[in-house]
Amino acid sequence: MALFETEALILRSYNLAEADKIVVCLSRSSGLIRGVAKGCRKLKNRFGAALEPFTLINLTYYEKENQELVSFRQVEILKSHFNLSSNASILTGFAYMGDLLIDFSPPHQANDNLFRMALACLEAAAETPSDLDVVLRYFEVWLLKLEGFLPDLRVCANCQKQFEDETIYLGPDLSLRCLQCSNGRGRGIAKALRTQLRTAEKLAPAKFAEGAREVSKDTKREMAELTFHIIGRVLERMPRVRPAS
Ligand SMILES: [Zn+2]
Repeated sequence: MALFETEALILRSYNLAEADKIVVCLSRSSGLIRGVAKGCRKLKNRFGAALEPFTLINLTYYEKENQELVSFRQVEILKSHFNLSSNASILTGFAYMGDLLIDFSPPHQANDNLFRMALACLEAAAETPSDLDVVLRYFEVWLLKLEGFLPDLRVCANCQKQFEDETIYLGPDLSLRCLQCSNGRGRGIAKALRTQLRTAEKLAPAKFAEGAREVSKDTKREMAELTFHIIGRVLERMPRVRPAS
């Protein structure tokens, strides 16, 4: 049995037996972890409020060889979002991010960029709840990018020509092609939307949200449709819940 310590973000939990919970979290050094928190539903327990969703904790856990479920030993709250627990739309948005992290992250594979990106998005939405929708779009773009599903937004996948101001097309294989190579078939992506996607690739979420206040409703809607489409294609089903914009 080996003992590990890592920062982790609680994503979801399920009741187990009478007094325990299975907790799913994204950890900095081991990626997605599922673990048992023994006795955490007893009145007096060593976990306190640390296992509430979207709490950032310092986690110590045991791992047994060939077992996917780890055993939570000790937790310490680094950052709690308890103050937002009365904001229903933020909670729905956070739950949506949590679901996508669970869907997209392979278990026990560390991805420091993903971990930091998820934290930055939670912070940005917590700081300015009115930016939630835009932060969720940013989160989707980056999740797809970090997991290798975001097409190259700069050059045509077929002829390698640099895209300029023209409308480009997303094919069924989730690659982007110029008008000539695609024959205009596929999902059209106009310049304004491509600029938004490229901006998301370059900025931190709070900065992106700030800039997006000047962006047209149509472009925002197109961005939401595009990320939803790609996520659905990758998962081969509709994402579980998506907060209404
Ligand atoms: Zn081309």
